[in-house]
Amino acid sequence: MKGNFPVEKFQDIRTPFYYYDTELLRTTLRTINEEAGRHENFVVHYAVKANANPTLLRIIREAGLGVDCVSGGEIEAAMKAGFNPSGIVYAGVGKSDWEINLGLDNNIFCFNVESLAELEVINELAAAKGKKANVAFRINPNVGAHTHANITTGLAENKFGIAMRDMVPVIRKAEEMANVEFVGLHFHIGSQILDMGDFIALCNRINDLQEELEREHIKVENINVGGGLGIDYEHPNRVPVPDFKALFDTYGRHLRLRPGQKLHFELGRSVVGQCGSLITRTLYIKQGEVKKFAIVDAGMTDLIRPALYQAYHKIENISSDEAPETYDVVGPICESSDVFAKQIELNKTRRGDLIAMRSAGAYGEIMASQYNCRQLPKGYTDEEL
Ligand SMILES: *Cc1c(COP(=O)(O)O)cnc(C)c1O
Repeated sequence: MKGNFPVEKFQDIRTPFYYYDTELLRTTLRTINEEAGRHENFVVHYAVKANANPTLLRIIREAGLGVDCVSGGEIEAAMKAGFNPSGIVYAGVGKSDWEINLGLDNNIFCFNVESLAELEVINELAAAKGKKANVAFRINPNVGAHTHANITTGLAENKFGIAMRDMVPVIRKAEEMANVEFVGLHFHIGSQILDMGDFIALCNRINDLQEELEREHIKVENINVGGGLGIDYEHPNRVPVPDFKALFDTYGRHLRLRPGQKLHFELGRSVVGQCGSLITRTLYIKQGEVKKFAIVDAGMTDLIRPALYQAYHKIENISSDEAPETYDVVGPICESSDVFAKQIELNKTRRGDLIAMRSAGAYGEIMASQYNCRQLPKGYTDEEL
């Protein structure tokens, strides 16, 4: 089964470009709100780094989500899309002074702090403005997600987060500082996680840490468990909406929230991943010794995930219904890793045929580069065409 695309409307658009199905995005957001809404005190943020397309941001804001930013640029993009700064959480191992000041000036909800050195700078910069910054500590829970090595972030030796053994001393430090307010703990163990056991492991770890903090009489108002829920790259049509019920119910069942405590999520990929496709045009069919190459006009500059993580994207020829043949699908960039897929079945493909790379709504358009002096791909929604 192929996706449903308005192929006629694509004919005059310069390829490659991203195409977003806003109806699917809205269905996804409705599901998130319904399933999170069954649990008291669950708060959902959208991780802007997955995709900052302004139209998508507006739709996500209209659904009432908060935002998770990892840079000053993302804070600006979120505010431009109309998000209220009081719903912004800001994470990142390397926040520069202007970025911290931007957060302070706009009174964002919380800085997710990843080191003692950063805490000290936030305290100083807040003091200079006569403000008090809300801070949560990103704790490295040493929980390994069963996912690609480049996207697991929760192991002990990692640039992200504060080690568990440093948690209490760092909180004590914050309590002594005049211009920061300790408001919670933050975790994020990785991405493209489909095994609920990974989230259960995180819940168990957080339960232990909470008991330790209670023994120290430290009160935690907010727990933030980050993002990480995966999507079904193999079956974008059969499973267009990720299993948010499983995610929220897993946390509801396994994480022992204290009365009044809020549980925050920062969902990226699972919100926007399935609603986007990269649309590219076939330039040439090249017959190799044994293989046939479909050379398309999109490259790793437009969608880097296959080259960077050996990621799989389902590829469909949306111009052809002829009998399938086997192709390697490759881009025009001067890098041998500029390969989207090897030995896959496509309906017989000819020069000019439009090809859809599915499940490209997250970490697609936003990761595009201009290597080889290429233009950045544009993003269009169904509403704009
Ligand atoms: C990347 C990131 C997210 C979102 O991750 P997804 O796997 O896309 O859901 C959430 N929180 C933090 C801190 C991140 O770095």
